[in-house]
Amino acid sequence: MKFCCIASGSSGNCEYVGSESTGLLIDAGISTKRITCGLESLGVKPEGLDAILVTHEHSDHIKGLEVFLSRHHVPVYATMATLDAIAALDKKNRIDTSLFNPVKPDNAFVVGDIDVMPFSISHDAKDPICYTLSDGDSKLGLATDLGTFDDYIISHLEGSSTLFLESNYDRSMLEAGPYPYMLKQRIISSHGHLSNDMCARLILHLLGRSVKNVYLGHLSKENNYPELAYETVKCELNLEYGDISRFNIKTARRDEMSCMSAV
Ligand SMILES: [Zn+2]
Ligand SMILES: [Zn+2]
Repeated sequence: MKFCCIASGSSGNCEYVGSESTGLLIDAGISTKRITCGLESLGVKPEGLDAILVTHEHSDHIKGLEVFLSRHHVPVYATMATLDAIAALDKKNRIDTSLFNPVKPDNAFVVGDIDVMPFSISHDAKDPICYTLSDGDSKLGLATDLGTFDDYIISHLEGSSTLFLESNYDRSMLEAGPYPYMLKQRIISSHGHLSNDMCARLILHLLGRSVKNVYLGHLSKENNYPELAYETVKCELNLEYGDISRFNIKTARRDEMSCMSAV
Protein backbone atom coordinates (compact mmCIF):
# COMPACT_ATOMS: atom_id res chain seq x y z
CA MET A 1 0.00 0.00 0.00
CA LYS A 2 0.97 3.60 -0.47
CA PHE A 3 0.05 6.51 1.75
CA CYS A 4 -0.02 10.27 1.24
CA CYS A 5 -1.25 12.96 3.57
CA ILE A 6 -2.92 15.55 1.33
CA ALA A 7 -3.64 17.87 4.28
CA SER A 8 -3.65 17.52 8.04
CA GLY A 9 -4.36 19.90 10.90
CA SER A 10 -7.14 21.59 12.80
CA SER A 11 -8.09 23.43 9.61
CA GLY A 12 -8.65 20.40 7.40
CA ASN A 13 -7.81 16.73 7.01
CA CYS A 14 -7.59 14.41 4.02
CA GLU A 15 -5.35 11.41 3.47
CA TYR A 16 -4.99 9.08 0.49
CA VAL A 17 -4.33 5.35 0.65
CA GLY A 18 -3.80 3.26 -2.45
CA SER A 19 -2.93 -0.30 -3.39
CA GLU A 20 -2.46 -1.99 -6.79
CA SER A 21 -6.15 -1.85 -7.59
CA THR A 22 -7.82 0.27 -4.89
CA GLY A 23 -7.74 3.93 -3.92
CA LEU A 24 -9.48 5.64 -1.04
CA LEU A 25 -9.54 8.78 1.05
CA ILE A 26 -9.69 9.11 4.79
CA ASP A 27 -11.84 12.22 5.41
CA ALA A 28 -12.60 15.09 3.06
CA GLY A 29 -12.05 18.12 5.29
CA ILE A 30 -10.55 20.41 2.64
CA SER A 31 -12.05 21.93 -0.51
CA THR A 32 -12.89 19.73 -3.48
CA LYS A 33 -10.40 21.77 -5.48
CA ARG A 34 -7.57 20.91 -3.07
CA ILE A 35 -8.59 17.24 -2.93
CA THR A 36 -8.72 17.05 -6.73
CA CYS A 37 -5.36 18.83 -7.18
CA GLY A 38 -3.80 16.57 -4.56
CA LEU A 39 -5.09 13.41 -6.18
CA GLU A 40 -4.06 14.55 -9.64
CA SER A 41 -0.51 15.21 -8.47
CA LEU A 42 -0.48 11.58 -7.31
CA GLY A 43 -1.78 10.44 -10.68
CA VAL A 44 -5.14 9.40 -9.20
CA LYS A 45 -8.45 10.27 -10.85
CA PRO A 46 -11.03 11.45 -8.28
CA GLU A 47 -13.83 9.55 -10.02
CA GLY A 48 -11.74 6.38 -9.77
CA LEU A 49 -11.72 6.37 -5.95
CA ASP A 50 -13.33 3.34 -4.34
CA ALA A 51 -14.29 4.93 -1.02
CA ILE A 52 -14.14 7.86 1.34
CA LEU A 53 -13.77 6.70 4.94
CA VAL A 54 -15.02 9.40 7.29
CA THR A 55 -13.90 9.53 10.93
CA HIS A 56 -16.49 11.97 12.30
CA GLU A 57 -18.71 14.90 11.37
CA HIS A 58 -16.56 17.87 12.51
CA SER A 59 -16.07 20.30 9.66
CA ASP A 60 -12.30 19.81 9.45
CA HIS A 61 -13.09 16.23 8.33
CA ILE A 62 -16.10 16.72 6.04
CA LYS A 63 -15.90 20.30 4.70
CA GLY A 64 -15.29 19.19 1.12
CA LEU A 65 -17.58 16.17 1.12
CA GLU A 66 -20.78 17.78 -0.16
CA VAL A 67 -19.22 19.33 -3.26
CA PHE A 68 -16.94 16.35 -3.92
CA LEU A 69 -19.87 13.90 -3.86
CA SER A 70 -21.94 16.16 -6.12
CA ARG A 71 -19.21 15.71 -8.75
CA HIS A 72 -17.96 12.19 -8.10
CA HIS A 73 -20.09 9.24 -7.04
CA VAL A 74 -17.79 7.68 -4.47
CA PRO A 75 -19.16 5.47 -1.66
CA VAL A 76 -18.83 6.94 1.83
CA TYR A 77 -18.17 4.81 4.93
CA ALA A 78 -18.75 6.03 8.50
CA THR A 79 -20.80 5.09 11.54
CA MET A 80 -24.58 5.48 11.26
CA ALA A 81 -24.58 8.39 13.73
CA THR A 82 -21.87 10.17 11.72
CA LEU A 83 -23.74 9.63 8.44
CA ASP A 84 -26.94 10.97 10.04
CA ALA A 85 -25.03 14.03 11.27
CA ILE A 86 -23.54 14.62 7.79
CA ALA A 87 -27.01 14.36 6.22
CA ALA A 88 -28.41 16.79 8.82
CA LEU A 89 -25.65 19.32 8.01
CA ASP A 90 -26.44 19.04 4.28
CA LYS A 91 -29.26 21.61 4.41
CA LYS A 92 -29.76 21.68 0.64
CA ASN A 93 -29.91 17.88 0.35
CA ARG A 94 -27.11 17.87 -2.19
CA ILE A 95 -25.56 14.62 -1.00
CA ASP A 96 -26.88 11.42 -2.57
CA THR A 97 -27.35 9.35 0.59
CA SER A 98 -27.45 6.13 -1.46
CA LEU A 99 -23.64 6.48 -1.39
CA PHE A 100 -23.67 6.04 2.41
CA ASN A 101 -22.43 2.77 3.91
CA PRO A 102 -22.82 2.52 7.69
CA VAL A 103 -20.04 0.68 9.53
CA LYS A 104 -19.64 -0.39 13.13
CA PRO A 105 -16.55 -0.10 15.32
CA ASP A 106 -14.63 -3.41 15.49
CA ASN A 107 -16.50 -4.83 12.46
CA ALA A 108 -14.02 -5.22 9.61
CA PHE A 109 -15.02 -4.57 6.02
CA VAL A 110 -13.31 -4.70 2.65
CA VAL A 111 -12.78 -1.99 0.03
CA GLY A 112 -11.33 -3.55 -3.14
CA ASP A 113 -8.18 -5.35 -1.97
CA ILE A 114 -7.82 -3.38 1.28
CA ASP A 115 -9.09 -4.72 4.62
CA VAL A 116 -10.42 -1.95 6.81
CA MET A 117 -10.95 -2.11 10.57
CA PRO A 118 -12.81 0.77 12.22
CA PHE A 119 -12.33 1.36 15.95
CA SER A 120 -13.87 3.80 18.44
CA ILE A 121 -12.04 6.88 19.64
CA SER A 122 -12.75 9.19 22.58
CA HIS A 123 -13.78 12.52 21.02
CA ASP A 124 -16.70 14.93 21.30
CA ALA A 125 -18.54 13.87 18.14
CA LYS A 126 -21.60 11.60 17.63
CA ASP A 127 -19.85 8.26 17.16
CA PRO A 128 -16.27 8.91 16.03
CA ILE A 129 -13.96 6.20 14.71
CA CYS A 130 -10.50 5.82 13.27
CA TYR A 131 -9.24 3.10 10.98
CA THR A 132 -6.50 0.62 10.34
CA LEU A 133 -5.98 -0.58 6.76
CA SER A 134 -4.14 -3.63 5.54
CA ASP A 135 -3.41 -5.25 2.18
CA GLY A 136 -2.08 -8.45 3.70
CA ASP A 137 1.56 -7.31 3.46
CA SER A 138 1.54 -4.17 5.59
CA LYS A 139 -0.72 -2.30 7.95
CA LEU A 140 -1.45 1.41 8.27
CA GLY A 141 -2.85 2.68 11.56
CA LEU A 142 -4.48 6.09 11.83
CA ALA A 143 -5.55 7.73 15.08
CA THR A 144 -6.40 11.43 15.23
CA ASP A 145 -9.01 13.42 17.18
CA LEU A 146 -8.75 11.46 20.40
CA GLY A 147 -8.55 12.96 23.86
CA THR A 148 -6.97 9.88 25.33
CA PHE A 149 -5.87 6.35 24.49
CA ASP A 150 -6.09 3.01 26.23
CA ASP A 151 -5.32 -0.68 25.69
CA TYR A 152 -8.23 -0.94 23.22
CA ILE A 153 -6.72 1.74 20.93
CA ILE A 154 -3.22 0.30 21.33
CA SER A 155 -4.43 -3.19 20.42
CA HIS A 156 -5.97 -1.87 17.20
CA LEU A 157 -2.86 0.07 16.17
CA GLU A 158 -0.40 -2.70 17.09
CA GLY A 159 1.46 -4.31 14.18
CA SER A 160 1.23 -1.20 11.97
CA SER A 161 4.23 -0.47 9.78
CA THR A 162 3.08 3.11 9.26
CA LEU A 163 1.38 5.10 12.01
CA PHE A 164 -0.43 8.38 11.50
CA LEU A 165 -1.06 9.79 14.97
CA GLU A 166 -2.40 13.00 16.40
CA SER A 167 0.13 15.40 17.91
CA ASN A 168 -2.29 18.28 18.31
CA TYR A 169 -0.94 20.74 20.85
CA ASP A 170 1.91 21.73 23.07
CA ARG A 171 0.60 21.96 26.62
CA SER A 172 2.44 25.19 27.51
CA MET A 173 1.44 26.91 24.28
CA LEU A 174 -2.19 25.95 24.83
CA GLU A 175 -2.17 27.11 28.46
CA ALA A 176 -0.52 30.45 27.64
CA GLY A 177 -2.39 30.93 24.36
CA PRO A 178 -5.42 33.02 23.38
CA TYR A 179 -8.14 30.35 23.49
CA PRO A 180 -11.03 30.90 25.94
CA TYR A 181 -10.92 28.80 29.12
CA MET A 182 -13.78 26.50 28.04
CA LEU A 183 -12.13 25.70 24.72
CA LYS A 184 -8.81 24.95 26.44
CA GLN A 185 -10.63 22.58 28.78
CA ARG A 186 -12.34 20.89 25.84
CA ILE A 187 -9.05 20.30 24.02
CA ILE A 188 -7.29 18.93 27.14
CA SER A 189 -10.27 16.72 28.12
CA SER A 190 -10.47 13.00 27.42
CA HIS A 191 -12.84 13.83 24.54
CA GLY A 192 -10.54 16.44 23.00
CA HIS A 193 -7.16 16.03 21.34
CA LEU A 194 -3.78 14.41 22.00
CA SER A 195 -0.88 16.64 23.05
CA ASN A 196 2.65 16.19 21.75
CA ASP A 197 3.62 14.45 25.03
CA MET A 198 0.67 12.08 24.89
CA CYS A 199 1.42 11.29 21.25
CA ALA A 200 4.98 10.33 22.26
CA ARG A 201 3.58 8.08 24.98
CA LEU A 202 1.24 6.39 22.51
CA ILE A 203 4.13 5.82 20.11
CA LEU A 204 6.17 4.25 22.93
CA HIS A 205 3.43 1.63 23.33
CA LEU A 206 3.60 0.80 19.62
CA LEU A 207 7.30 0.64 18.84
CA GLY A 208 7.52 -3.01 17.96
CA ARG A 209 9.66 -4.34 15.17
CA SER A 210 7.04 -3.59 12.53
CA VAL A 211 7.10 0.23 12.73
CA LYS A 212 8.83 1.96 9.80
CA ASN A 213 7.17 5.38 9.59
CA VAL A 214 5.49 7.57 12.16
CA TYR A 215 3.59 10.62 10.97
CA LEU A 216 2.64 13.32 13.47
CA GLY A 217 -0.66 14.77 12.31
CA HIS A 218 -3.62 17.01 13.10
CA LEU A 219 -1.38 19.78 14.52
CA SER A 220 -3.14 22.82 15.96
CA LYS A 221 -2.45 26.07 14.15
CA GLU A 222 -2.58 28.13 17.35
CA ASN A 223 -1.06 25.80 19.92
CA ASN A 224 1.69 23.94 18.12
CA TYR A 225 4.12 24.08 15.22
CA PRO A 226 5.76 21.28 13.25
CA GLU A 227 9.31 21.64 14.64
CA LEU A 228 8.04 21.70 18.23
CA ALA A 229 5.86 18.60 17.76
CA TYR A 230 8.78 16.80 16.12
CA GLU A 231 11.36 17.77 18.76
CA THR A 232 9.03 17.00 21.68
CA VAL A 233 8.19 13.54 20.36
CA LYS A 234 11.79 12.82 19.37
CA CYS A 235 13.19 13.87 22.79
CA GLU A 236 10.63 11.77 24.65
CA LEU A 237 11.34 8.71 22.49
CA ASN A 238 15.11 9.18 22.83
CA LEU A 239 14.78 9.34 26.61
CA GLU A 240 12.46 6.37 27.00
CA TYR A 241 13.37 4.15 24.05
CA GLY A 242 16.90 5.06 23.05
CA ASP A 243 18.02 4.90 19.43
CA ILE A 244 15.13 5.79 17.13
CA SER A 245 17.09 5.91 13.89
CA ARG A 246 15.47 2.62 12.84
CA PHE A 247 12.27 4.42 11.79
CA ASN A 248 11.26 7.75 10.26
CA ILE A 249 9.32 10.41 12.11
CA LYS A 250 7.64 12.94 9.84
CA THR A 251 5.37 15.85 10.61
CA ALA A 252 2.32 16.22 8.38
CA ARG A 253 1.77 19.81 7.21
CA ARG A 254 -1.48 21.70 6.88
CA ASP A 255 -0.51 23.42 3.62
CA GLU A 256 1.78 20.90 2.02
CA MET A 257 1.20 17.37 0.83
CA SER A 258 3.51 14.71 2.15
CA CYS A 259 5.36 12.52 -0.34
CA MET A 260 3.63 9.33 -1.34
CA SER A 261 5.37 6.65 0.70
CA ALA A 262 5.19 2.88 0.95
CA VAL A 263 3.33 1.74 4.06
ZN1 LIG B 1 -12.96 16.50 15.69
ZN1 LIG C 1 -10.26 17.16 13.60
